[in-house]
This record gives sequence, structure tokens and C-alpha cells, in this order.
Amino acid sequence: MERLEEWRQLLAAGKYFKVVCGAGHEVEADVERLAYVYTLAGCNGFDVSAKPEVVEACGRGIQAAAEVAPAMGLNLGVRPFITVSVGMPGDHHVRKAVISSDCVACDLCIPACPTAAITVDLVVVDPLCIGCGRCEAVCPPAAAAIRWRHDAKSLRSILPACLQAGAESIELHAAVADEQATLAEWQVVNDCLPDGLVSLCLDRHYLSNHDLLERIRRAHAVAGNRMMLQADGVPMGGVAGSGWKATLQAVAMADVIERELKARDPRFRHLPVVLSGGTNRGTGQLAARCGVPFAGIAMGSQARRLVQGGLQDIKVGRVDTAIKKLVAEASDMIKTTLAISELC
Ligand code: SF4
Ligand code: SF4
Repeated sequence: MERLEEWRQLLAAGKYFKVVCGAGHEVEADVERLAYVYTLAGCNGFDVSAKPEVVEACGRGIQAAAEVAPAMGLNLGVRPFITVSVGMPGDHHVRKAVISSDCVACDLCIPACPTAAITVDLVVVDPLCIGCGRCEAVCPPAAAAIRWRHDAKSLRSILPACLQAGAESIELHAAVADEQATLAEWQVVNDCLPDGLVSLCLDRHYLSNHDLLERIRRAHAVAGNRMMLQADGVPMGGVAGSGWKATLQAVAMADVIERELKARDPRFRHLPVVLSGGTNRGTGQLAARCGVPFAGIAMGSQARRLVQGGLQDIKVGRVDTAIKKLVAEASDMIKTTLAISELC
């Protein structure tokens, strides 16, 4: 079966589970280890930074998992799809923190950072920063020392290189108000991948429900049935924990799209909607209880945190007790999160 058709079937069945390594996470060894562990755990998608070296690292992790799986008694099924993330200026996923001269050296941001990107000298290590904003949240208002810079990438040059390196899809994070600029960038994404699935990631920070649906309609006019939609409840909201409240907005956004668009307009009936932004083990269950169908779940913070403690000890390609333990935990998490989707 063709790769595209395999992907469509996963989405139609609500069984697509994507681990978000982080659009700004460019530490290749970490991405390779994450891909190794989660491929063995049954994950069928990875979302990585739009950098060819990172795409290749993800591919190495997937390939190593495929090679050791038989020895672990695992049947991996569909080989995971690699998506690269790019974003509009202002979108959280493609920004990097900078500590300004207003810093009063209180050190509160150091332990708050989930990726250990802030050194004891109060410098942000760029490749580690995922733009989550937790440093800004704890920075004393009197200092307000965190600034942001857009991690600008020239899409027309970087995206073909990422596809060449093994990426199969592109996701545009477009949680910004500027409609024309967003559509122009969306056109570039579509030009770069005219015959594959392309994903638009939106949230409702700037967009009303009406604006959200209008943006989806316009984007769909460009991509047609190659389009996927990522409903980003609370961008990078996975840090909020495992409760239903953390995942509520992703489900609510998917509900709006289902009721106001998919159920009313046949052109959108098969639009795959992937839940993200605050997703956790309860996401599938909450969606099922609310009667909200979904094509898949993308998980960042919660998925990374689950394996974080043991990840540095993992040697890609080696099978030992440590990897078995991590794979078992990750596999259980994926099944818990997705299994309930079958009820929708
Ligand atoms: S807390 Fe988040 S935004 Fe701040 S430096 Fe760490 S990763 Fe970057
Ligand atoms: S929290 Fe703000 S003021 Fe405190 S060390 Fe970090 S950047 Fe500086």
C-alpha cells in the first residue's frame, strides 16, 4: 500500500499518534533517541524542526527501531511519518527566548525551563529552546527580562532539503492574526509538497470561531483533500498536566470544526482533525465522552516528559532493560490516549 494511503487509513480510523519533538528542538541526538523509543512503542508520526540534520536524526531513530523490533517481539505496523514544522512570525512554536539586560539574576527561570535550555550563567542555549514561555511566566514583572526572536527560515530553500532528508509532510503553525501573510506562507508550503499531506496548525488566541472556520476554508481552497488540520487547544499546554481541564480546549476546538464545518459542508467531511496543545492521557476519553471525533492526537510535553528521565541512558540500536522499560511505559501511554477513539 502506498504511504499516503496508509496515512489516510490511520487518520480515518482515529489511530494516528504523533510525538512532537519540538519545532525549535534541534539537538539531533535527543530527537534520534525519542524516535527510537517511540517508534518501538507504536507511535506512527513524529513532528520535528525544519532542519535536514534533525529530520535525518529522526529517520535514524526510526530505522534503528525497525531493525531491533523483531528481537523485542514487536510488530511495528506502519512506519512513522515524519513531519517538519515551520511557523509564522509570532507563533509560539517557532520563537526563541532571549534574556535581556533587564534580568535581575533571580534564577527563577532556570528550574522552570523544561528542556534545561537556560545555563547557570543565564544564557539561553538556542538549539534547546522550544519557545514554551515558561521562563517568561516565572520572570518577575519588575524585570520582565525575557524577549523573543523569531526563528526565521527561508521556506523555499529549507523545505525541499527537509523532504529530501526524509520528511513526508509539512506543518505550518499559523496561530497569528495576519490572514494574508498566513495564506501566502501556506501557498509556499503547498508548492513545496504538491502531492503529499500538509497540515495547518491553528489555535483560537487571535481567531474567533468564525475567523477560524474562514481560515480553514481558505487554506482548504489551496490544499484540497491533502490538508490536515491540527486543533491546538492551548499551544504547548501539555505542561499543564494530565487533567481533563488541560486538554479541554483542544477537544472544544475540534467540536467547533466538526459541528460548524465538517457536518455541514461535504467538502470538509473527511478533513482529518488532529488534537494537540494540552493533550494527555485523558484527551481521547474526554473527546469520546463529548462525542467529538478526531483523526489522531499529537503530544509534545507529556510524551517527552514521560521518557525524559531515562532518555540519556538510551543507546540507539541497543536492546536492554532500560529501553524495554521506557518502551513499555510509552506504549501504555499511547494506547491509553488513543484506544478510546474507537468509541467515537
Ligand atoms: S522555558 Fe521554554 S521558552 Fe524559556 S528558555 Fe526554556 S524552552 Fe525556551
Ligand atoms: S527569571 Fe527573569 S529576572 Fe530571573 S533570572 Fe530569569 S530572566 Fe533573569
